[in-house]
Amino acid sequence: MGRSGALASASMTRPRLHLFDLDGTLLHGTSAPVQISRQLGLEAETLALDVEIGAQRIGPPEYARRIHALWSQLTVDHVAAAFEGAPWLLGIRETWAEIRERGDYCAVVSLSPSFFVERLTAWGAHAACGSRFPAVPFTEPVDPAGVLSAAAKVKIANRLCEGFGVGQEDCIAYGDSLSDVDLFGAVPVSVAVNADQYVVGLATHSYTGRDLREAYELVRRGR
Ligand SMILES: [Mg+2]
Repeated sequence: MGRSGALASASMTRPRLHLFDLDGTLLHGTSAPVQISRQLGLEAETLALDVEIGAQRIGPPEYARRIHALWSQLTVDHVAAAFEGAPWLLGIRETWAEIRERGDYCAVVSLSPSFFVERLTAWGAHAACGSRFPAVPFTEPVDPAGVLSAAAKVKIANRLCEGFGVGQEDCIAYGDSLSDVDLFGAVPVSVAVNADQYVVGLATHSYTGRDLREAYELVRRGR
């Protein structure tokens, strides 16, 4: 669609907001903490933490406290290498460019650390929100008050809606796991991406594969 087409469609229809989860959704089969920890040779320890939080034996604040302790040697170069080397779905930048071209909005909301999540604004996300961690390398503890939860994802989505002037009835959520279920319940359209059967059952659409353009295609026409 050319520029004039995008302007025309934006003026004829209400803008939509596409909300993307990160771990297991934009990142295929892994989490940002595991990818960061790989750079430090601490992948196994972090996979164990992911199992614990996945089984809800620990909550997000305890997960953040333990991961912060694990990353005492973390540098900005490690974070950059983890971001560049991670198994991203194909077509993320292309999908977000098309969303922008249509006059819609795209945002990432993730429980993972803000210093990783925020890098996605360089790929075209209008906003990227994660759990607030201190600057890398760490000289301060992580504040549990800044760590996000599944419920916090809904609050952030509401705040983003206000900021962009988009109604909650015009939101689409993409996610893979239990931490997305609250948000799926709050918006009318949801895409389970490489999700288990329970999460698939709570979404309006389901996608299995490695290309975000294909997941977006399920809801592109919308309304
Ligand atoms: Mg996820």
